[in-house]
Amino acid sequence: MPLLSGAAFRWLTALAALAALSVIVKAAVAVPFASGSPRPADESFAGTGSTVELQERRVWTFDAGSGVQVCIDNLFSGARLNGCEQVGPREFRVVVAPEREPINPSPWYAFRLRSSKPCEVTLRLAIATAKARPRAWASRDGRRWAMAPDSQWTGEPGARECTIKVSIVPDPIFIASNQMIGIEELDAWSTRVAMESGVPVQQIGRSTGGRPILAFTLNPTAPPDHVVVIGRQHPPEVSGSVGLMKFIERLQQSDAALADFGKRFRITVIPLVNPDGVHEGQWRCTLGGVDANRDWHDFSQPETRAVRDAILALQREPGSRIHLLLDLHATDRDVLYTPAPGSAVEPAGFVEAWLAGVQARFPREQLESTATHNVDQWTFKRWAAEVIKAPGITIEFGSLTPNERIAAKSRVFAEVMAEVLGAQVARRSPPAPRVPGRGDVVKPPVGVP
Ligand SMILES: [Zn+2]
Repeated sequence: MPLLSGAAFRWLTALAALAALSVIVKAAVAVPFASGSPRPADESFAGTGSTVELQERRVWTFDAGSGVQVCIDNLFSGARLNGCEQVGPREFRVVVAPEREPINPSPWYAFRLRSSKPCEVTLRLAIATAKARPRAWASRDGRRWAMAPDSQWTGEPGARECTIKVSIVPDPIFIASNQMIGIEELDAWSTRVAMESGVPVQQIGRSTGGRPILAFTLNPTAPPDHVVVIGRQHPPEVSGSVGLMKFIERLQQSDAALADFGKRFRITVIPLVNPDGVHEGQWRCTLGGVDANRDWHDFSQPETRAVRDAILALQREPGSRIHLLLDLHATDRDVLYTPAPGSAVEPAGFVEAWLAGVQARFPREQLESTATHNVDQWTFKRWAAEVIKAPGITIEFGSLTPNERIAAKSRVFAEVMAEVLGAQVARRSPPAPRVPGRGDVVKPPVGVP
């Protein structure tokens, strides 16, 4: 393979262009655990009781000959790099392993490279439990990402070891299995959206590693008719975060399509359920070693308990009704998982009407959805149907679906939801007055002795 094919050259050229934009951001990435971050780093977390394998955080430094020094590190939030060795003058084998095994074969890796002088290096990625050839994305600033073209790779799909060639310079370059949207980006987004909407960001709990789990509610003065949107139960599923952000940003807009919805519904958003998993670059689990989206019966994890309790608190409000619960993920394609057949959820018929409405907006694409996915597992959507008695829907975006496509779909998901839910809830009778329960203090009406 030539060192620089046409596509590879374009990839690297794009990265060079990105470098010019990175002046401010480089300052941020130079201090990976910024003291001003609202979430504490968990370097003091000893892992007691945890069953996950944590990476050692360090810098690997190599003599690449001709006076060139190459540094590879995982000293930033979201990194995953378990080991590194030099196998040739400018060839390095990087080892990535999941936090535990067996595990879902969706490998996550992210590390940072730099050299004392510009040079070309070959990276041999050795990834445990890979199902398909991993992708490589690169960024100069940790924010703008370009995917390496296939021509950059050698190694068969499914091979456990693939190689990629990268040009490096004294300024750092990030290499990762997907674009990175981490804790810092999601917190900044939450702060911005909440501020624009004049609502506070609140802490609903803390993770095992002590990181706050944050939430905010749009339209808090609307009647207590609720929609709940959560994301990033699974750390590597970045496309789910793109979808969540675009979905909520559409609901923030107050044009004719959504103005009425904004007055009528409250939307509670929990963008990052598993901050520890994202920080550690885990493939699937919480820091406690549990798949959060299989924990919606046992609630063994502080993360799922925090989200559950926040939703149950919404449900306890006088006159409250929770109409819809959405959970954003990513997988190998765009697909929707809807409530199991026979689920007694209200509003009845929402899912069918919503799917039909979305499909009508994408006439050239057959939307994929299924009601029978993982029905025996205690996922968030099952808990939503069985405990909250409302439709729970898992929205999966493809890891390689372009961000523009995710944005377009998410906007339509939001618009059709507003239209369908608005019409269905308007047709329903107002909520019944709350019947006093045991333990309530019942005051006699005024004037009655
Ligand atoms: Zn997932």
